[in-house]
Amino acid sequence: MNRKIKEPQGLLLVVSGPSGAGKGTICNLMRKALPELAYSVSVTTRQPREGEVDGKDYFFKTVAQVKDMIFRGELLEYAQVYGNYYGTPKPYVQQLLNEGKDVLLEIDIQGALQIKKVFPDGVFIFVVPPSLEELRARIYKRGTDAEDVIEKRLRAATGELEYASEYDYIIVNDDAEKATKRVLTLMEAERYRAGRTYFLVDDMIRSGK
Ligand code: 5GP
Repeated sequence: MNRKIKEPQGLLLVVSGPSGAGKGTICNLMRKALPELAYSVSVTTRQPREGEVDGKDYFFKTVAQVKDMIFRGELLEYAQVYGNYYGTPKPYVQQLLNEGKDVLLEIDIQGALQIKKVFPDGVFIFVVPPSLEELRARIYKRGTDAEDVIEKRLRAATGELEYASEYDYIIVNDDAEKATKRVLTLMEAERYRAGRTYFLVDDMIRSGK
């Protein structure tokens, strides 16, 4: 970690995990527990699911619109997931981090690995289900996707688990409340990392006070 950080900075939290692992639920519980936590709303070309609101769950865009955003460099990262584009709008995230706010991104692995290159000080969290059987049961129970999409997601999940080692933390979501508590605890610890707090000591050394 870079020890030259001069100012307190917000945490950039990147949460990924296979579909059905429950990362969405955990992110929602985190936002409830930490109302000041800023959530980055992604753009996507997928169709809205029932109950999803444009600008709240996603910014729903056409492929041409997203390609335009990519071309103009307006996305911090983007990826194609299950045949649709998903991306993180850049200006919002950068502005919040500059203001010292914590920002939460719930994005897929391809996107997280792109973010890691730009923000190596980010906190990368991988949410896993307690087992693959449990994952299958959860996706079917959710019932929001067509059968072929579900099967696609299940096949992808096993491959995705291999990327867990690229992350800083692995959180087993056996129980959403408990898993969220674990994430909140690790966030607290992250704030005290020497790389993030060294500026305090640096001030003492420089000022002699
Ligand atoms: P869903 O269609 O179920 O909402 O999301 C499908 C996948 O896309 C999830 O793994 C979700 O984390 C990921 N995703 C959502 N937003 C973004 C984004 O902005 N960038 C990337 N790379 N993935 C995203």
